[in-house]
Amino acid sequence: MRIIAATQNKNKLNEISQITKDFGLGLVSQADVGLGDVQIDETGSTCEENSYIKAKAICDMTGEPAIADDSGLFVDALGGAPGVNSARYSGVHGDDAAARKMILKQLEGLPYKKRTAMFVCVITLVYPDGRKLVARGECPGHIAYEEKGTGGFGYDCIFIPQGRRRTFAQMPQSYKNEHGHRGRALAKLRTLL
Ligand code: IMP
Repeated sequence: MRIIAATQNKNKLNEISQITKDFGLGLVSQADVGLGDVQIDETGSTCEENSYIKAKAICDMTGEPAIADDSGLFVDALGGAPGVNSARYSGVHGDDAAARKMILKQLEGLPYKKRTAMFVCVITLVYPDGRKLVARGECPGHIAYEEKGTGGFGYDCIFIPQGRRRTFAQMPQSYKNEHGHRGRALAKLRTLL
């Protein structure tokens, strides 16, 4: 059996592939099955809804099991924004650099203890017979005062996980894979499989 990863985001796909390399999932990307251009509208209002929408759409198109990741950064001082709108916070879908600048500007002058945030990742696996598995991973932390580090992607260079002093982008990928939101969600999925 193989499972199709319903994402066009190469960074997510890389992390999911690294983290699940021992799970025996037979993971292939939607691009691998000729659906590289398929963009699914994320019309839900939670990561659970959007994750399901993406996995279900690719499962319906292929007749094969599909897995999707919906993730976001929830900043307390911004009432949970960007949250489910993390990919389009700046107004331009996928412009993470502009979104990071907006967040840093909105938090300007805020002391460290008020810069709390949470990375959330929901992984949904949908089977053609309608069964689904859902796993949520959360990673609490703080928003840095400025961008730091060159690793990772998206919001990694402004996010400092709880109890650490460096951003995800300053750490080895192995740390994020083990302790990050995506690693935690996928570890839960493994227990459900
Ligand atoms: P979506 O899950 O496709 O809606 O995208 C979520 C948004 O959050 C995108 O802008 C990603 O770049 C960002 N994002 C998702 N996961 C991570 C992560 O692990 N680190 C940093 N940014 C992330």
